[in-house]
Amino acid sequence: MTSQDSRSIRRLTSGYKGSYDYSKSEEREGRSLVRFKCGLLNTIQDVLRQRPGWVEVKDEGEWDFNWCDVGWLRENFDHSYMEEHVRINHFRNHYELTRKNLMVKNLKRYRKNQERDVGRLEASKCDFFPCTFALPSEYHLFVEEFKRSPGSTWIMKPVAKSQGKGIFLFRKLKDIMDWKKDGTRSEEQKDAAQVESYVAQRYIENPYLINGRKFDLRVYVLVTSYVPLKAWLYRDGFGRFSSTRFSLSSIDDKYMHLTNVAVQKTAPDYDPEKGCKWQMQQLRRYLTAKHGRETVETLFTEMDNIFVRSLQSVQKVIINDKHCFELYGYDILLDQNLKPWLIEVNASPSYTPSSQEDYEMKCRLLEDTLNVVDMEGRLTGKEKRVGGYDLMWNDGPIYREDVNVETFGSSCFTANTHLGCVNDREKQLRWLLKPFPGQKRM
Ligand code: ADP
Repeated sequence: MTSQDSRSIRRLTSGYKGSYDYSKSEEREGRSLVRFKCGLLNTIQDVLRQRPGWVEVKDEGEWDFNWCDVGWLRENFDHSYMEEHVRINHFRNHYELTRKNLMVKNLKRYRKNQERDVGRLEASKCDFFPCTFALPSEYHLFVEEFKRSPGSTWIMKPVAKSQGKGIFLFRKLKDIMDWKKDGTRSEEQKDAAQVESYVAQRYIENPYLINGRKFDLRVYVLVTSYVPLKAWLYRDGFGRFSSTRFSLSSIDDKYMHLTNVAVQKTAPDYDPEKGCKWQMQQLRRYLTAKHGRETVETLFTEMDNIFVRSLQSVQKVIINDKHCFELYGYDILLDQNLKPWLIEVNASPSYTPSSQEDYEMKCRLLEDTLNVVDMEGRLTGKEKRVGGYDLMWNDGPIYREDVNVETFGSSCFTANTHLGCVNDREKQLRWLLKPFPGQKRM
């Protein structure tokens, strides 16, 4: 931050309240006082409130940092003037990646461009999302595909809902008649009978099972810039299990097929003590014991490929803005061949804890997010690791520093990602960070 920045005055729609003279208090390397606004009433609010030197502003008060919900963003972002140092937790058109239909549209376009520019082999590396159609607009294309594999299972999902709401499985076209475009109706009638937008997606019929149960993975990826693309991968995450043994014989049982915690919590036999989650470390250990280190490393490398390519698929579409960052919650499903599938990307992954362990994990994640965003100016900008975050991509792949080039040869690079590995963040942060302004180094 330059001294010129600190002299200028922010004017936001929320109103300028010039009661605090920043030009005197700010030092070159960062802020000793950060005024934050928080639109959510859960873990993130706790983390923000506990951060040394951060103070909460309410209502129309002026802010330096805003953790808002997407509704606030939609209504206010375009009218806000933000000074250089101000940060907000969403990109303006985040939905290009986080709405189910748009994500698939962008991925399909990206794959096509890859095929045209680099070739088939490269394009095939984008084959990590199940075959998907937007309904009703692509109904006819969908029907063609549907008829090619009679008897297979499909899943219908409303494009803009979450937590499993409105989702159902089907095997017969008659179950989705509502989404069939009806050419015989007039425009007016069509409008009146407009149906909600859905995606119809091929259902993964062979999910990887543990104790007979299906699960999906929640992984956190932080993007601090789209141009150039700069993305961080968090070491912790978890698997979310369904409470009912998997079978394809009953497709109507949401407790069996949908792994959302919001769904599982309502199951009659849900045990809040036991919950339905495994930490990522536990999952990685389990898979390594069962399949060996090499197989599991391949799996995790394939997941890295999903994160990076999905971000690249929207890189030219997302409005890059130096004020914005985004903490995405990726949902990944594994099949029996240990192939990872991208199910969706969430702009507002839940920070509501399901247990004490979950709360602590989310606090670590959010604290480290604030450490990377670095309102306090404690980083150099060259870090490859900040707490539990490893820099995965910075205008190109990031490799580990500990790789022994002599042993492996210079052509062997290992990605700087450690999903599901030890998260010794406190030690690393003590080593890395200058103390908060006014605090002594520990
Ligand atoms: P929501 O935004 O409502 O959570 P998702 O797309 O994440 O919707 O789907 C909810 C759940 O349904 C996932 O967590 C997963 O368990 C299951 N699911 C979704 N799509 C598929 C699919 N194509 N194949 C198998 N299971 C799926």
